[in-house]
Amino acid sequence: AQDRVFNFAAGPATLPEKVLLRAQSELYNWGGSGMSVMEMSHRGKEFLSIIQKAESDLRTLLQIPPEYSVLFLQGGATTQFAAVPLNLCSPDDAVDYIVTGSWGDKAAKEAQKYCKPNVIWSGKSEKYTKVPSFGDLQQNPGSRYLHICANETIHGVEYKEYPVPQSGVLVADMSSNFCSKPVDVSKFGVIYAGVQKNVGPSGVTIVIIRKDLIGNAQGLTPVMLDFKIHDDNNSLYNTPPCYGIYMCGLVFEHLLEQGGLVEVEKNNKKKAEILYSTIDESKGFYKCPVEKSVRSLMNVPFTLEKSELEGEFVKEAAKEKMVQLKGHRSVGGIRASIYNAMPLAGVEKLVAFMKDFQAKHA
Ligand code: PMP
Repeated sequence: AQDRVFNFAAGPATLPEKVLLRAQSELYNWGGSGMSVMEMSHRGKEFLSIIQKAESDLRTLLQIPPEYSVLFLQGGATTQFAAVPLNLCSPDDAVDYIVTGSWGDKAAKEAQKYCKPNVIWSGKSEKYTKVPSFGDLQQNPGSRYLHICANETIHGVEYKEYPVPQSGVLVADMSSNFCSKPVDVSKFGVIYAGVQKNVGPSGVTIVIIRKDLIGNAQGLTPVMLDFKIHDDNNSLYNTPPCYGIYMCGLVFEHLLEQGGLVEVEKNNKKKAEILYSTIDESKGFYKCPVEKSVRSLMNVPFTLEKSELEGEFVKEAAKEKMVQLKGHRSVGGIRASIYNAMPLAGVEKLVAFMKDFQAKHA
């Protein structure tokens, strides 16, 4: 549709047009039920069919092994910063965090309330531009898990492979690269993600957890944070975010229609490649500080050598219907988030604009 912009926001973020139009067509009367998904009982057969299909399509997409549960929860990934330690360890247990950006940092800080987290590596002194080499990592003996943030949304640092924990299980916050590429779920104890970047509207948080890790929550764990409660009740212990789950389901269907995550990753690589090469070939006019081998396919942060032009860059881009390009307030500069639903045409338009802007201001 002509009146839509290219939305480079970090999240909530752009959704596939096809999905929005389908939701629009079903908004008023879903599947002949005579009501909107927003109006349905979460225990009725219609909504049950929606949540079951969403789960089964997600299982197909990520090839989730049967010994893992999929939970549709609320509270954002931020709630998981607490739920993970509450469910996986006792107050005296050691756990390890690798901190490659501000989300991992927040996760580690929240865990301090519920157990004994150790930050075994932090990229802070290098302004979060790296992932450590795994061979140098030393976990604490007896640690219950090793936590990583698979893609740091603000700093644009993304793991391309994953460390194998020396102790405990691997836990990953995949909020900003969830379903952007195939992932071997069996390497993880827990994967969690707020869905509002790649797979739906805000309000849904997906947790994929190995079943044997469920059922050991600390006594003071609120019921809403207890994985066992949600697992035993198929994510229907209380009223779930029904409409958001429905939207995620439409996105999963759409990703499957595109050929699944192998194809999705190919598209994402192509988009990231043209954007990073425009930055790298700009003779320093644009700069991305992140080490090349771990640059995110999803969030591309960059600065202008003439930083005083950044405001104008954002404003001029918005005039051409490319919006939300301002970097996170904590780091400044520019950030282009190019999640699954950002079409190649959007990135092509952005790089054409960047070259033009450079020619005008070099
Ligand atoms: N982790 C990552 C990697 C994120 O990008 C975000 C949101 N930007 C969060 C956690 C926090 O998510 P929420 O706002 O859903 O709590």
